Amino acid sequence: MAAKSDHVFVVDDSADNCFLLQALLEDENYQVTTLSSGIELLEVIGEQRPDLILLDVMMPEMSGYEATQQIRARADLPFIPILLVTAHERSNVVEGLDIGADDFIRKPFDADELMARVRALLRLKHSVDAERVITQQRDDFVSRLTHDLRTPLVAANRMLTLVTEDAFGDVPSEAKGAVVQTIRNNDHLLTMVNTLLEVYRYEAGRKETAIAPFNLKRLLEEVVGQLQPLAQEKHLALKLDDGVDYQGDERCYTLFGDRLELRRVILNLIDNALKFTDAGSVHVRFETVPTDAPTHWSIRVKDTGPGIPTADQAEIFAWFRPGKHRRSGSGLGLHLSQRIIAAHGGTLTLASEVGQGSTFAVQIPLQPILQDTAQRRQASQ
Ligand code: ADP
Repeated sequence: MAAKSDHVFVVDDSADNCFLLQALLEDENYQVTTLSSGIELLEVIGEQRPDLILLDVMMPEMSGYEATQQIRARADLPFIPILLVTAHERSNVVEGLDIGADDFIRKPFDADELMARVRALLRLKHSVDAERVITQQRDDFVSRLTHDLRTPLVAANRMLTLVTEDAFGDVPSEAKGAVVQTIRNNDHLLTMVNTLLEVYRYEAGRKETAIAPFNLKRLLEEVVGQLQPLAQEKHLALKLDDGVDYQGDERCYTLFGDRLELRRVILNLIDNALKFTDAGSVHVRFETVPTDAPTHWSIRVKDTGPGIPTADQAEIFAWFRPGKHRRSGSGLGLHLSQRIIAAHGGTLTLASEVGQGSTFAVQIPLQPILQDTAQRRQASQ
């Protein structure tokens, strides 16, 4: 017996066919709505959201294929299985399945077979819905948890900082050392929690990037400057290479993007390079590519570190895949970095050879002003 909530749309321009399907489905206690065209279907589907659509292929004005295609193109709709009802040859059915229908049945159909297909598609619908609910609950839980973790951590560090400043009376220097270490550990935990929260925002599609023009060279200088002490501590040469054909106009360094997010990516890549490299250098080079007719910004971070085995390279951007290096952390940084670059329409790739080092390469499409500049530059040549 069907669950009460199972609501089936029957879409057919023939009233007789609609009537027949409706009678069969109502016999099994499904709630049925009949519609006479694909256009009508598209009008009401957003509001009524049925659990299944039985869709005639051959209809005037809009075919069942076209209706299927339009439904599948709509991001606002949940998954609704579509069963095509067709009198057509096989090739057409293949086309229907390829554009997003889930099953088909040929007219004249056997009632038992039709009902078996209806039940199977409703089972599919229910399992997809259940999975979505679980994913949603998990996302909400993690996002709330990470949020709630941040507050006490920040508060604790504020309090501990006051302790190190002798705000509550003199603290012996040994105790101070321990408190400073605790603050550092908390900061590390806070960074992890922040990263996790960001990953979930991207994952849940709730991340909004604030795209605006900024000076890429300055951003890179800022990050390199920030990490220079770390490089010096490890006796590594950290160099920034400007590969831009500077035309005396600072605007040629303009990148349209979310500065904060891209800063996070660059910081992560250089920080990783320094963390995993024990001798040699970390080289950061930025330029527009390809040279003759630039379409993208390229930022490459090249190190002389241990390199990453080919077998691990495909996994390195997956989340919670920290790699096998003893200094590996949570394995979230590269995943988030790739997400951020993808949100800018770009790519983050890796070229690495064990014993030779690694190069992480970011490519981001040039944005309108820069494209104009590039075109103007080309035109003036
Ligand atoms: P985390 O550094 O916190 O582990 P990431 O996602 O930034 O997380 O990096 C994932 C893994 O990729 C690292 O744990 C490490 O094993 C490997 N990795 C990243 N960058 C480098 C690098 N420059 N050289 C060697 N291994 C690297």
